[in-house]
Amino acid sequence: MSASPRLTDDQLMLRDTVRQIAENNFLELAGEADRKLQPPIENIRTLADLGFTGTFVPEEYGGLGLGVLENALMYEQIARSCANTAILMSVTDGATPRAILHLGTEEQKRRYLPRFVSGELFSAWSMSEAEAGSDLGAMKSRAVPDGDGYRLSGSKMWCSCAQVADLFLVLVRLSDAKGLAGIGGVLIERGTPGFTIGQHLDLIGLRATGMAPLFFDDCHIPAENILFPAGGMRDLLNVFNADRIAGNPTICLGVAAAALNEAADYVASRRQFGQLLSDFQGLRWKLADMAIDLEATRALVYRAAQMIDEGNIDHIDVSIAKTFANEAAMRITDVAMQLAGAYGLSAEYSFERHYRDVRGMAVGYGTTEIHRNNIGKAIAEGAYRA
Ligand SMILES: Cc1cc2nc3c(=O)[nH]c(=O)nc-3n(C[C@H](O)[C@H](O)[C@H](O)COP(=O)(O)OP(=O)(O)OC[C@H]3O[C@@H](n4cnc5c(N)ncnc54)[C@H](O)[C@@H]3O)c2cc1C
Repeated sequence: MSASPRLTDDQLMLRDTVRQIAENNFLELAGEADRKLQPPIENIRTLADLGFTGTFVPEEYGGLGLGVLENALMYEQIARSCANTAILMSVTDGATPRAILHLGTEEQKRRYLPRFVSGELFSAWSMSEAEAGSDLGAMKSRAVPDGDGYRLSGSKMWCSCAQVADLFLVLVRLSDAKGLAGIGGVLIERGTPGFTIGQHLDLIGLRATGMAPLFFDDCHIPAENILFPAGGMRDLLNVFNADRIAGNPTICLGVAAAALNEAADYVASRRQFGQLLSDFQGLRWKLADMAIDLEATRALVYRAAQMIDEGNIDHIDVSIAKTFANEAAMRITDVAMQLAGAYGLSAEYSFERHYRDVRGMAVGYGTTEIHRNNIGKAIAEGAYRA
C-alpha cells in the first residue's frame, strides 16, 4: 500500500525506471562517497547519458518539458539509494537553470539550457553569506558598474555543489537600495578571473555534495551575464518555490523511505529474548508511526508539486510541505537508527548516514523556523484559513 495520489502510468514508469537505475548504479558506493567526502559526479553523468538531466527544460531548448511532480518523483527515487547524488542532481538541475528559463534573456536560454540537458554543464546557486543567512537582505557582496559590465567583490558561504559546478547563479547587491530591493542575480562561470572556490565545508551529513565558500575579488561580470537586476528578488523567490519542492523535501522523503524499509528488514531478521524484534508489538507501533509520517509527507509533497504544475501554488503550501517533510524525515531516520541498536549507530549499516543526511535539510532552503514564520504570518493576516 502506498499513497501515491493520482500518478499517471507515465509518472509511475518514470519513478520505477529511476529507482532501478539508482539501485543498480548508485546504492553500492553511497557510503563510500560519504566517508571519502567525494561528490559522486559520475552518477550524474550516468543520469545525463540516459537522458535524465534537464528534464524540466522545454523541448525548444532540448529538454522534455516535464513538471515539478516528475522531478520530485525522480529525486525521491535517487535519494533512496544515495542522498548525495540526489542533492547533486537536484542542485545542478535546480535553481540556476530554472531561473535562467524563467528570468533569463533568450540569448542566455540558448547559451546555457541545452548544455544542462546534455549534462555538459553542472550548476550551483549561492545566496548565503557568513553574516546573511535567513536575513538575505543583509548580504554584502556587491557588484559595481564598470565599463561594459560589473566588478564583484565579496564572499559566499554554504554553496552546495560548488566544487563540481561550472556555472553559478550568485545573488549580489546590484544597487544601493537597502535590503532585498538592492539584490540582483548574476551568472558566473568557473574559471572567471577573480573568482575562487574555497575548501570543502564538512557538515554533519550530505558530506559528498562539494559544498564550499565562494570568493570574489574584483571579478568582472559581463553585462550579458546579469540574470536579473536589483529589485528582481520577488520573481526569483517564485522560481525558488518550484525548486524548493522538487529537491529538499523529496530527498527527505527518499532517505526516510530507505530508512523505514531497512529498519523493517532489520527487525524482521534480528532475534532477542527468543523472538524476532518484529514480533514485539511496541516495535511494530514504532514502524507504524514511521509509515504514517512517511505517507503524510508524500501526500503533502506530491500535492504541492501538482499545484505548482497546475500554476496554482501558494507559498504557504510550500512552507507546510517542506517543514513537515524535514521534521518527519528526522523522526523516521532517528527511530530507524534506534531500532537497530548499536548496529544502527555503526557505519556498517546505513542508518546513521540516513540520520545525518536529513539533518541539514531543516536548515537549507529556508529553516523550519523561517517557514513557520511564513505560515504563522498567513494565519495572522487571514490569508490562510483551515
Ligand atoms: C545542507 C545545506 C545546504 C545548503 N546549500 C546552500 C546553497 O546551495 N546555497 C546557499 O546560498 N545556501 C545554502 N545553504 C545555507 C542555508 O540557506 C542557510 O544555512 C539558511 O538560510 C540559514 O542561515 P544561517 O545558517 O545563517 O542561520 P541563521 O539565519 O543565522 O539562523 C540561526 C537560527 O536562528 C533562526 N532564525 C533566524 N531568523 C529567525 C526569525 N526571524 N525567526 C525565527 N527564527 C529565526 C533560524 O531558524 C536558525 O535556527 C545550505 C545549508 C545547508 C544546511
